[in-house]
Amino acid sequence: MDAVPGYPQVQAALWIGGKSLPAADGFCLDVADPSTGQAFVQIAAGGVDEAIAAVDAAEAAAPGWVAASPRDRAEVLRRAFELMTAEAERLADVIVMESGKSLADARGEVAYAAEFFRWFAEEAVRIDGQLSVAPSGRHRILTLQQPVGISLLVTPWNFPAAMGARKIAPALAAGCTTVVKPASETPLTMLVLADILERAGAPAGVVNVVPARSSSAVVSAMLADRRVRKLSFTGSTGVGTHLLAEASGRVLNCSMELGGNAPFVVFPSADVNDAVAGAMHAKMRNGGASCIAANRFLVHEGIAEEFARCLAAAMARLRLGPGWDPASDVGPLVSRGEREHVAGLVEAALDDGARARTGGAAPDRPGWYYAPTVLDRVHPDAAILSQEIFGPVAPIVTFATAEEALLLANNTDSGLAAYVYSGDLAEALRTAEALEVGMVGINRGLISEPAAPFGGVKVSGLGREGGHAGVLEFCETKYVAVDW
Ligand code: NAD
Repeated sequence: MDAVPGYPQVQAALWIGGKSLPAADGFCLDVADPSTGQAFVQIAAGGVDEAIAAVDAAEAAAPGWVAASPRDRAEVLRRAFELMTAEAERLADVIVMESGKSLADARGEVAYAAEFFRWFAEEAVRIDGQLSVAPSGRHRILTLQQPVGISLLVTPWNFPAAMGARKIAPALAAGCTTVVKPASETPLTMLVLADILERAGAPAGVVNVVPARSSSAVVSAMLADRRVRKLSFTGSTGVGTHLLAEASGRVLNCSMELGGNAPFVVFPSADVNDAVAGAMHAKMRNGGASCIAANRFLVHEGIAEEFARCLAAAMARLRLGPGWDPASDVGPLVSRGEREHVAGLVEAALDDGARARTGGAAPDRPGWYYAPTVLDRVHPDAAILSQEIFGPVAPIVTFATAEEALLLANNTDSGLAAYVYSGDLAEALRTAEALEVGMVGINRGLISEPAAPFGGVKVSGLGREGGHAGVLEFCETKYVAVDW
């Protein structure tokens, strides 16, 4: 890759078997800066041959990595945490330049991503089995947790470091070797992570990275390879369901972290200022491009006007600008397509009678920006409430009773996260129990936490990442009947 003034230097090649490889015959991928809309670098991309070479490398590395002691594996992960922390600014700069997010969001992402290495370094030495006496008393039941095997990790663009770390760290802790297929919009961050892991001591072939121009060809080739035993995917529900169907042919072990449509419920007993502060976190982390972003604000009719006014004022104060500028609170969306998606949802809602309390349009400037927007009077059937917005737009719907709030909240096929603001803990806990989601924030707009199990129900996914559950996703349980 040629150096581009203003951009940090990144090794932009395939990473297979501990080596940087150039692209085969013209297989290149343009990476664009969302703040200008212009490509700034071309990197090597892999095709089917490179995907299979990466599986070869993962296969070659597997016996050594399985045999490494849990402590040795933990030490690699711990060093990765330390290197990432020491090099946080460089990594944040790379995240900003390819994803567009603000520097503050990128720094937050690096810290969050690094914590997965620390957490799973601690988990690597705590993968235990069980011994019990069979009910008949005639034998013993011994269970072991063993690594599932070569794992294909497919990651999205919205958290290019954290979504990779959330998979690589537990896979390595469990003793699996991996091939990572990063999002085509944001491959550079994963190449930096691979470099960090190599310096942390991960042996060649334990982590391989194959950016691709044709994701479907590369991923399909690996899903069809009988040596691959695991798919861990984070991305949209549409692509995820397609890959689940593909993986079913070989009965692959799958963990799927898919799209969300989080409700943010504000009961009349809530402190409105707290609820607005929480809403700003739940909505605006990563400029709204988060799977757990609050997508539907369900606010009691008695406080809806005050909530809308305060939220609109807070959103209007945000400064839109290129992510690299520390003065920017919100960067651009990742691509023209994402901006068109957001703009289309807002226009349809406005046509349907919604009112823009702030924002409501894309500013007239280069890059894929969209103004932070608050909509109220949104019709309960509006499309903006049934799809992931994935941008800085907060639609508000009112409710009259707790039962109505719950019906509205659960009226979606998605079930990733939800938020509840209430001054009545019993009401909040009752609601948390009844919400059809995998995660709930009560009086809290930030719920991502490496030590907690992250994941969804319904079409939002299968399995959990983070916590102790995260490492078990990369293990298979073996039962041994013993008589002594
Ligand atoms: P995406 O589904 O378009 O892409 C995800 C990954 O799959 C990328 O690496 C992409 O290159 C690859 N891909 C795309 N089409 C493919 C195909 N046909 N075959 C094989 N691979 C393919 O998602 P995205 O736009 O990168 O990310 C945004 C989505 O990810 C949102 O829906 C968001 O909610 C979801 N997400 C979920 C979580 C979670 O933990 N549940 C976290 C972050 C993002």
